[in-house]
Amino acid sequence: MFESLSERLGGVFDRLTKQGALSADDVKTALREVRTALLEADVSLPVARQFVKSVEGKATGASVTKSVTPGQQVVKIVHDELIAMLSGDGPADALKIDNPPAPILMVGLQGSGKTTTTAKLAKRLKDREGKRVLMASLDTNRPAAMEQLAILGTQIGVDTLPIIKGETAVQIAKRAKQQAMLGGYDVYMLDTAGRLHIDEVLMDEVQAVRDVANPRETLLVVDGLTGQDAVNVATEFDEKVGVSGVVLTRMDGDGRGGAALSMRAVTGKPIRFVGLGEKMDALETFEAERVAGRILG
Ligand code: GDP
Repeated sequence: MFESLSERLGGVFDRLTKQGALSADDVKTALREVRTALLEADVSLPVARQFVKSVEGKATGASVTKSVTPGQQVVKIVHDELIAMLSGDGPADALKIDNPPAPILMVGLQGSGKTTTTAKLAKRLKDREGKRVLMASLDTNRPAAMEQLAILGTQIGVDTLPIIKGETAVQIAKRAKQQAMLGGYDVYMLDTAGRLHIDEVLMDEVQAVRDVANPRETLLVVDGLTGQDAVNVATEFDEKVGVSGVVLTRMDGDGRGGAALSMRAVTGKPIRFVGLGEKMDALETFEAERVAGRILG
């Protein structure tokens, strides 16, 4: 993630910090290169523009250009603005899963990595927080997807709701809730059906499930490799079902990372986790400061 952006920015800032004095024009030139680097990383144009504008506002003042180490000051401003862009109003808080059993609704398009992420997150909650988790697949159209979740559950030692053929997604959600209450689970995760594209049927079903489950968290899983599309999908899902956080998958295969950079600024929704591989442990929290540090090396 972010390797190419990191390299590009590294070059720009090397030149900047080597210069002794900096004029407002030097800063402008450098920021133009920063903008190009962001766009090449697939950051959306309005976000890249806004970013450069706010850095420029802070970096061309006399206190920076006349300081002893102007280049380093500019780098520091970029660093702070990156954190602001990634974290919006504040840090992405921990999942709200007090008051057991807490429902977590997993939504997203088919193939985004939703089922894998459901299992990864269940494992994480079990291993790191000692939570008792129940997972349920609501994908009534794809028996294979239900089987997949059951297999993953066995693999990671997390219970799944037994499959009963012929139930609707809403019926499964109700049964999961009941089972979670009776079984003393801390969390129950509802892995909703995905479709290849956003359509009415999909959204109606997710809304109906949401209404019966009243989820504490609604996590949208999107394929990070799809760049700007991932951000658009997030905007649509948020409008239709309301999303509390985003999980970006396949970030192990994305050297550009633009989806991660634009997500918060465009949708206002925090990235909670990133998927970094197919293995059950390949899920990391997304912390703006660490990410900014990684980008700026
Ligand atoms: P779903 O249709 O949204 O439930 O998608 P799946 O969970 O079945 O995932 C589709 C494919 O993507 C599977 O082969 C997963 O192993 C793979 N996958 C999921 N997350 C990641 C990730 O973070 N990195 C990589 N490299 N592959 C992933």
